[in-house]
Amino acid sequence: MSINKEAYVQLVSELEKSNASLIAVSKTKPVEDIQVLYDMGHRDFGENYVQELVKKHDELPKDIRWHFIGHLQSNKVKLIAPFVHMIHGVDSFRLLETISKEGEKLNRVINCLAQVHIAKEETKFGLDFIEARQLAAIYFLEKKFKFVQLCGLMGMASFSNHTAVVKAEFSALKSLFDEMKALYADESEHFNVLSMGMSGDYALAIECGSNMIRVGSLLFGSRT
Ligand SMILES: *Cc1c(COP(=O)(O)O)cnc(C)c1O
Repeated sequence: MSINKEAYVQLVSELEKSNASLIAVSKTKPVEDIQVLYDMGHRDFGENYVQELVKKHDELPKDIRWHFIGHLQSNKVKLIAPFVHMIHGVDSFRLLETISKEGEKLNRVINCLAQVHIAKEETKFGLDFIEARQLAAIYFLEKKFKFVQLCGLMGMASFSNHTAVVKAEFSALKSLFDEMKALYADESEHFNVLSMGMSGDYALAIECGSNMIRVGSLLFGSRT
């Protein structure tokens, strides 16, 4: 087993000084590894693949809060809608609409984050800043998506050793978050999550205003 209990304890104590919460990203890792962190009291886990998440949800304790952090296809929303705690990767209106429809069928409001593209790499999913502003405007002003709770923003920085580059990306996302929070001050009481930072850059992300980090390999070992 590659799970690193010491790293978990260390990370949790580091986070006590911030107001950031920790999503343990368990994608590709066995349920036994998740159970170890669960037994240490951890409840928030992140997964990227729908089938894998559904299977793990079946096998593990039901009070785990599952965060879907990968790219979500509209036709798969219904598979996770009954139990998912938060969907981090909302990158289109269509997806937001589908999530709201599936939520309506279940009479369940589903927590979502809009994913914003901040990295240099083209492969990373997400809305650009203009699209993110449009999505927020429609969500907050038209109030069409009744079974979605837009809880904030999510982003992934470039894989870069250049601290200045990563810092600029995180800071840009924090500015957008603050802008929306202020612009929709009357509607945005639940718009409080800024999900940014992974194993390699979480400290910098927190410095830039992140309040939710998604950490995988540091806790579970590298993925093959
Ligand atoms: C895999 C993944 C993570 C965790 O990455 P690590 O570098 O292993 O900490 C965080 N966020 C997303 C969206 C991911 O896909």
